[in-house]
Amino acid sequence: MQAFRHLYVHIPFCRHKCGYCDFNAYAGMDRLMPAYVDALERELAFARERYPFQQLETVYLGGGTPSLLPASEASRLLDFIRRNFNVAPDAEVTLEANPASTDAAKITSWMEGGVNRLSLGVQGFDPRALAVLERKTDGAQAERAFALARELGMSNVSIDLIYAVPFQNLRTWLVTLRRAIALRPDHVSTYCLSFEEGTLLHRRRAEGRLPEVETDLQWDQLDAACGELEAAGFRRYEVSNWALPGFESRHNQAYWRCRPVYGAGAGAHSYATDGEGAWRWWNVARPREYIAAAPSPRADGEELAARKATAEALMLGLRTADGMTAPHGFDAELGRLQRDGLILRIDGRIVPTRRGMDLHNQIALAVL
Ligand code: SF4
Repeated sequence: MQAFRHLYVHIPFCRHKCGYCDFNAYAGMDRLMPAYVDALERELAFARERYPFQQLETVYLGGGTPSLLPASEASRLLDFIRRNFNVAPDAEVTLEANPASTDAAKITSWMEGGVNRLSLGVQGFDPRALAVLERKTDGAQAERAFALARELGMSNVSIDLIYAVPFQNLRTWLVTLRRAIALRPDHVSTYCLSFEEGTLLHRRRAEGRLPEVETDLQWDQLDAACGELEAAGFRRYEVSNWALPGFESRHNQAYWRCRPVYGAGAGAHSYATDGEGAWRWWNVARPREYIAAAPSPRADGEELAARKATAEALMLGLRTADGMTAPHGFDAELGRLQRDGLILRIDGRIVPTRRGMDLHNQIALAVL
């Protein structure tokens, strides 16, 4: 098994469950936080003994809402990671933050704990779109949190936005993009809203209380994001991600390049490989069960045979603008994708075209 150089830590707590969210996130469980951080420490210490780790290049605290952790718990966790793992001096250490739970004291404690990249869950600026998404934050709060992070010296800040929201038209989406760009972030992620089964939004749409978003409008909104962000100097380096030069997310690139990533915490997934086959496993999802199961909270896992592992690597590699070296054994699939104008061959590499990025689901269907 190749050594882990990337660590993901899941913080499953949220103030409120947003209507579109199908992440492993829970509201009303804040009092579990200290016991949860204890459990994370147990899992991480156990994993450190059991699996090969080398110097960590990235650490990512995701959720849920990591910014909900009290500053003392976040500091304790970050300190534990630094004391028990060899975190590279130039490692990318990201924390996902919700503007509503971001304040000066927390930002300072995150930075003291080594966080050097903030991923701010803005999602939008248009009150109507935020209301559909059931977000409890508003645009002004997001702008305040962003400004505060910059003021306190956070040099790498990313913003998440969601498009294809019912009632969001092209004009309001353009205003959203422009307000986001005006903040001068280093990185922007734009996600197309999906209606996942089991969410409130899915139910509302099924009951006819939310309109469908026309495919043409979704396309126009994606096209607008490409135009506005590229004009502002961002490069679309992955299907849903734009960065200023040098600000591409190193942690997410580890996923797209199928590098081993250890995932700690409730419901977290780990991926390991020996360079041919691969293994994936995941932890029990519910925080209380996770706390009871730590240090060994694994729920289940699977082994990926070499062909399946390569197909996944191909599907993920073709999410990125840089693409990858063409793997053996997929000539027929790659030939078809090339004929359909979804990929190109450049200097021995295969890369997605703009059309291939926009229609990446067709690439995934062809290779998996
Ligand atoms: S804040 Fe994020 S993780 Fe939490 S419920 Fe909302 S969308 Fe889900």
